[in-house]
Amino acid sequence: MDMEDMAQRILAGERRALARAITLVESGREDHRRLAADLLERLRGHGREALRIGMSGTPGVGKSTFIESFGCMLTEQGLKVAVLAVDPSSARSGGSILGDKTRMERLARDPNAYIRPSPSQSQLGGVARRTREAIDLCEAAGFDVILIETVGVGQSETMVAEMADLFLLLLAPAGGDELQGVKRGIMEMADILLINKADGALKTTAVRTCADYAGALRLLRKRPQDPQGFPKALTVSAVEESGMDTAWTEMQALAEWRRAHGHFVARRAAQARYWFEAEVREALLSRLKREPVKGAMRALAGQVEDGDLSATAAADQLMREYLMM
Ligand code: GDP
Repeated sequence: MDMEDMAQRILAGERRALARAITLVESGREDHRRLAADLLERLRGHGREALRIGMSGTPGVGKSTFIESFGCMLTEQGLKVAVLAVDPSSARSGGSILGDKTRMERLARDPNAYIRPSPSQSQLGGVARRTREAIDLCEAAGFDVILIETVGVGQSETMVAEMADLFLLLLAPAGGDELQGVKRGIMEMADILLINKADGALKTTAVRTCADYAGALRLLRKRPQDPQGFPKALTVSAVEESGMDTAWTEMQALAEWRRAHGHFVARRAAQARYWFEAEVREALLSRLKREPVKGAMRALAGQVEDGDLSATAAADQLMREYLMM
């Protein structure tokens, strides 16, 4: 595989080259990782900037349906849309498969859309790297909007928020008690809460739920990266495709404000730093699990158990001898 050729094809927007490149970054093989790193280096500094939108919500809240109607609205406006998925559960049980094309049929057929289902996976660290690299590839391929979908599980939401320029939380209409179910940390991460299913018999409940969330959001501390009125709650209906345009207008307004005030670039810089530090931690941890460090650790642990070495002294010795610290 010629990486320069692949880079050129991706920059030219060739779908098959993009798909192959994403397969490459998803691979755990050492030689594939080296090729992927080479490719990503070649693609750096292409000057394209997509709007990266993270999106979360519990299974059944309407993520697939929302992405389908929101995505189609964007492509109708002439925008190119990529959909990536982060699935935190290794056991992909029926119904909660993310980025499943059969649940986004219209968008999957759209030549201006690209949907990449979540790969079967190992640990979250690997998923984070793969997803970040897939985002970079889609951006290089000229996509205008990249939607990154995940389900409501704390860790994966934080991860997606750290990759996105905006973070949306999709919620269902619910009684007041259930509002408490949304963890404060996740509320604080969100830029826009979308109360879905505001149609038919659920409409009144959705409007009330939206007002409840709006009230809850007002109690949060104002963030410097937000203009007046954000974070905010809106109602949408993915099925009736209503509220999509308003939601998009709000997303654009927020992104524009952040661009104009330097927060957009600052956020990406902070994210790059966050991922660098995460990668270093990941690399150190993986060294602990490999020989010779693993064996040395086992031997030292034996000495600690026998009372021949203190825990601190043993740790110091390991760090000095194997991790050069
Ligand atoms: P996901 O698991 O979050 O991806 O949710 P789905 O998109 O698969 O939707 C779950 C169920 O909710 C499906 O039966 C959808 O038809 C339904 N649903 C999704 N969006 C809406 C909506 O806007 N209104 C109504 N009434 N139902 C919806």
